[in-house]
Amino acid sequence: MTHPTGWGLIGASNVAREWIIDAIRAQPGGEVRAVLSSSTERGAAFARDNDIPYHTTSLDELLSRPDIDAVYISTNNRLHFEQTIAAARAGKHVLCEKPLALSVEDANEMVRVCRACDVVLGTNHHLRNAATHIAIHGMIEDGRVGRLIAGRVFHANFLAAALQGWRVNDQGGGVILDSTIHDIDTLRFLFDQDPVSVFAMTQSGRLAQDGIEDGIMAVLRFPDDMLVQIHGGYTVPYSPGGVEIMGERGVIIGRDCMSQRPIGTVSVRDGDGEREIPLKHHNLYHRALELFTDAIHGGGLPAATGEDGVASLAIALALRESARTGREIGVDLP
Ligand code: NDP
Repeated sequence: MTHPTGWGLIGASNVAREWIIDAIRAQPGGEVRAVLSSSTERGAAFARDNDIPYHTTSLDELLSRPDIDAVYISTNNRLHFEQTIAAARAGKHVLCEKPLALSVEDANEMVRVCRACDVVLGTNHHLRNAATHIAIHGMIEDGRVGRLIAGRVFHANFLAAALQGWRVNDQGGGVILDSTIHDIDTLRFLFDQDPVSVFAMTQSGRLAQDGIEDGIMAVLRFPDDMLVQIHGGYTVPYSPGGVEIMGERGVIIGRDCMSQRPIGTVSVRDGDGEREIPLKHHNLYHRALELFTDAIHGGGLPAATGEDGVASLAIALALRESARTGREIGVDLP
């Protein structure tokens, strides 16, 4: 269905250029009408290179445009809070990058203000849009491997030189808020549940500045005494990402499925051997934008809501607290 939707990009970012502009334009009626950058030169170059008709350095100016219905926020993490609040108060729907904010209090406030202003808030947790994870979710829901015992997510890679900016210093970066937060969201999506407590150990100083995490091993305890391990990192070349979900009757295995690209396989291994599940891959960001567009035109929810973004942030910060204190931390979600 065609929904004319004018978008403003808040942030002249890599992720907007690589994925989101295309995903907006893939929606019938989806148009990118403006971009905000803190630099006139960067904004002009970004607008020219991506065929965007208007650029500005003024948030107020962008938000006052009547031809903009929704904004996509992909600035540095510390700016997401104030930009979301301003956009909501201007009556614009908000698809915000993760982490929603740097504190749970701020993220909750974003949800509250968006609700009060009657605009949709989505969190761009892309992985729950993957055909692989949707298939795994369906298999868990159908009880395919019986009562669940344990799981593991491995999502460590080597951070490309071009990305070694804010991610490896104290500007809201570190692997937990940058990448492990996606693993947390994926687990919440797969299990339809939140963990009750977490324990983590981290590494730093191999690639990130000392004190900023560039590796993590964590354990999340879910209801029914299910334990899930996460390994994330910026310093590991050549590791395939994957998920394993172990139940009393078998194991669900997702390989190469922690990617932005529509790739990967899912198989089930049980008493009859291992069989691959047929999948029809699609672009993860196209699906995210489709669900978000439907949500702002009155049909359902974004793939990940604002509340999902609050939960993934709260759990990510619990992991960080555990690593810093050496204690298992209870997860107490609002
Ligand atoms: P970038 O580093 O590309 O962009 C972030 C900000 O950095 C931009 O808003 C821009 O500011 C500024 N910037 C960009 N280039 C330069 C430069 N050459 N010199 C100085 N400043 C520059 O970030 P990413 O695209 O990697 O990430 C943006 C957000 O998206 C983050 O919140 C991240 O967590 C999230 N993300 C999400 C992904 C997903 O799949 N869900 C994937 C990757 C990132 P300005 O706008 O003022 O020009």
